[in-house]
Amino acid sequence: MIEEAELRDYLASSGAFLEGHFQLSSGLHSPNYVQCAQALKNPFWAGRMGAALAEGWHGPKPDLVLSPAMGGLIIGHEVARAFGVDFIFTERENNMMTLRRGFSLEKGAKLIIVEDVFTTGKSTLETAAVTAAAGAETIGAMSVINRMGDRTLPFPALSLLRLSLTAHPPEKCPLCAAGLPLVKPGSRKFA
Ligand SMILES: [Zn+2]
Repeated sequence: MIEEAELRDYLASSGAFLEGHFQLSSGLHSPNYVQCAQALKNPFWAGRMGAALAEGWHGPKPDLVLSPAMGGLIIGHEVARAFGVDFIFTERENNMMTLRRGFSLEKGAKLIIVEDVFTTGKSTLETAAVTAAAGAETIGAMSVINRMGDRTLPFPALSLLRLSLTAHPPEKCPLCAAGLPLVKPGSRKFA
């Protein structure tokens, strides 16, 4: 269990939760940006966050944890460790989410999909499609951070922290109006 205030402090101090003036990939401007890899670089904290997610889960125990690479790899592995189950991952091949490296899913297996951040939910849904195609069942999804706003996933979902997605078109951006320098996280330094 991690108190929200403690988690927010850690995200800020680890460099994962940046406050300022950012241009999102959508072109909108936002006062915050999340780079979850910065929070997961510390194994102790990655383990704590994985344990907190598993602890907060009140559904049936999964048979397996599955994550889309790259973002979900570390946290998915830690959630699987906390549940005491195996961890495998999907990755894109010719832009299609797929299982490689000899990974397979048993028919009827119950899976939880784990990501670092839910933003659009796209990669979670693509991973769930891989699960469904194999005749396995996605019983839930988890992430460290949820930035989905009003959007929801079609199965029970759990996140440690919900961040409101504040974003403005550049012409209506109060941060631009205040003259704050704009940072583009799509640049190499942030990718
Ligand atoms: Zn702006």
